[in-house]
Amino acid sequence: MRYNAPKGTTDILPDTARKWQYLESKAANMFKNYGYEPIITPIFEHTEVFTRSIGISTDIVQKEMYTFKDKAGRSLTLRPEGTAPVIRAYVNNNMQQLPQPVKLYYMGPMFRYERPQAGRYRQFWQIGVEAIGSDDPALDAESILLMINYFKSLGLKGLTLYINSMGCDKDRPKYMELLREYAEANRKRLCKDCQKRIDLNPLRLFDCKDESCQLVMKDAPKLLNYLEVDCRKHFNMVKRYLEMQKIEYIVKPELVRGLDYYTKTTFEVISPFLGAQNAIGGGGRYDKLVEEFGGSPTPGIGFAIGTERLAIAVEKEGAFDSIEDRMDVFIAVADQSAKPNAIDILYALREAGISADIDYMGRSLKAQLKYANRRGFKYTVFIGPEELEKKRVAVRNMETGEQIEINIDELIKVMRDIVMERF
Ligand SMILES: [Zn+2]
Ligand SMILES: [Zn+2]
Repeated sequence: MRYNAPKGTTDILPDTARKWQYLESKAANMFKNYGYEPIITPIFEHTEVFTRSIGISTDIVQKEMYTFKDKAGRSLTLRPEGTAPVIRAYVNNNMQQLPQPVKLYYMGPMFRYERPQAGRYRQFWQIGVEAIGSDDPALDAESILLMINYFKSLGLKGLTLYINSMGCDKDRPKYMELLREYAEANRKRLCKDCQKRIDLNPLRLFDCKDESCQLVMKDAPKLLNYLEVDCRKHFNMVKRYLEMQKIEYIVKPELVRGLDYYTKTTFEVISPFLGAQNAIGGGGRYDKLVEEFGGSPTPGIGFAIGTERLAIAVEKEGAFDSIEDRMDVFIAVADQSAKPNAIDILYALREAGISADIDYMGRSLKAQLKYANRRGFKYTVFIGPEELEKKRVAVRNMETGEQIEINIDELIKVMRDIVMERF
């Protein structure tokens, strides 16, 4: 019986997985540089972790969650995003006792039951950071700068940064009333989902991909124009910090980012390769979220990057070309009688930090060379009874065909010199 991967999932094969690993290790280095530490939370959580935080009226909670009952009848959900679990962990592990802000990053799969389409999967990967415990606008700017500088370090160009402020509890009530009135007046032009959203949370109307809805929302009142003085000051400081670092941005008042927990700053980065709808990364401030999880009032900000989309953009920019994925040494065995000695040398090379492999398929010498070429080994070392007797082995540079003979006792040292010097 043969099985396919479940609908909406895909196998990440070595050529792609290697690129993702590269993206993740570059991210880990840069995040550390900015003071962020790794955290790993469970793949599934109590369903309420997401319904309470992301919001009942969002598409994620209404249509896209992988929710199931476990054997004890508990309702669990595969995480559709990374922020809520990190905040749950922050409260759960008393991280409020630690020096603040607590700066964390995560990488891993997320799950949303969406209609599968090109480049969108039900299991998808994200790289994200959260900084919890400070409402300093300099930290908002740091979060934005970290994302932008990470993208730049990967060679991405032509990025567009959108920013917005969604204000706080003080700004919302008056504005929501205006928005609801506006949406009500345009009810007939809105899709069925949006008509329902008017009462649940009219902010969600900005998320709708329906053309008619987008047209209506273009002229809707924008929260940004209804901020009281504190939030306006905060937003102005964020912009100032970005300007000081010479980061260009566009203020986009429609940017509400699909989740209910955002307050104040929200942001999104668009790559020219992915189309205007598809951000490679985005985030925002969530000053009420820790309270939702039973912690004392604690502000926070973070972002998430879609690994698949990031990989597409980096690929199009040609920036994966520098990844060195070739093996150093292939050991070609001229005769099976020499294999035990050859295996000895194989492990000695590996011990010395040289990547090396050998034939395990009983290939002829000719077939071994063909295999070494196909796998892209840089060098081949020939080992046979004759070589062992003379204590001299031939080393072939697979690119140039150039061949040298060296003393078998010096093989490891010489190979290390060659490999380290050249690459
Ligand atoms: Zn405010
Ligand atoms: Zn709609």
